[in-house]
Amino acid sequence: MRVLFLSDIHGNLEALEACLAAAPAHDVVVNLGDTVGYGANPNEVIARARELGNTFVRGNHDRACAGLTDVRGFNYIAAAAAIWTNRQLTPDNLEWLKNLPHGPVSLPELPNVQMVHGSPRDEDEYLLLPDDAAASAALARAPITFFGHTHMQGCFRITEKQQITVHPKYSDQGADHWALALENGGVYLINPGSVGQPRDGDWRAAFAIYDSEAKKVTYYRVPYDVETAQKKILEANLPERLASRLQFGR
Ligand code: ZN
Repeated sequence: MRVLFLSDIHGNLEALEACLAAAPAHDVVVNLGDTVGYGANPNEVIARARELGNTFVRGNHDRACAGLTDVRGFNYIAAAAAIWTNRQLTPDNLEWLKNLPHGPVSLPELPNVQMVHGSPRDEDEYLLLPDDAAASAALARAPITFFGHTHMQGCFRITEKQQITVHPKYSDQGADHWALALENGGVYLINPGSVGQPRDGDWRAAFAIYDSEAKKVTYYRVPYDVETAQKKILEANLPERLASRLQFGR
């Protein structure tokens, strides 16, 4: 089975459409959360995401934009975007957002794989450092976990001997795709990267394809119409930083 993994779209319609246009053939789409928040097209992005499939994990911004979490835990910019998004959402999309499932989520066809937003142990945990990845991997219910939340494309592998390998982000290579062959043993924590607001120094939209038969993950980066996405953010009177950061991938 070939799975298209999308994460952290964050209301960026231009980035989402670019990823879908570039994605190779796949059997199913999985969304790792934060479909909305930050970007200027929450309703359009939810509509598109719902057309693609029905395997979702909720993210912290999904929760906040749905009104399930108090935005006081967010920084000013994230809080302002969450309040703006909440007011834009149609009643149907708001209801859909409220009912997204808490991870881990899994698919019956993929018993070795689980999907989370933050980490196997906490939907709000940021897996940025190898030590955090190792601690979290110990609680993984499957040998392969796909996660999002950090907006950093890449992978941690924790072997049975607790050796941690951090696979370089695809952006380090400068090309438009990069494949990772999965070996047997240990735990993999794999981040497809952020579609709509990359923060790993590469402004291009990110996604990944997992091929369960070939035991391979292929990471992709795609250029998109960042100027239009920025213009819409400014026209919506969202914080200026949400527009400027897109061109730097930070
Ligand atoms: Zn996010």
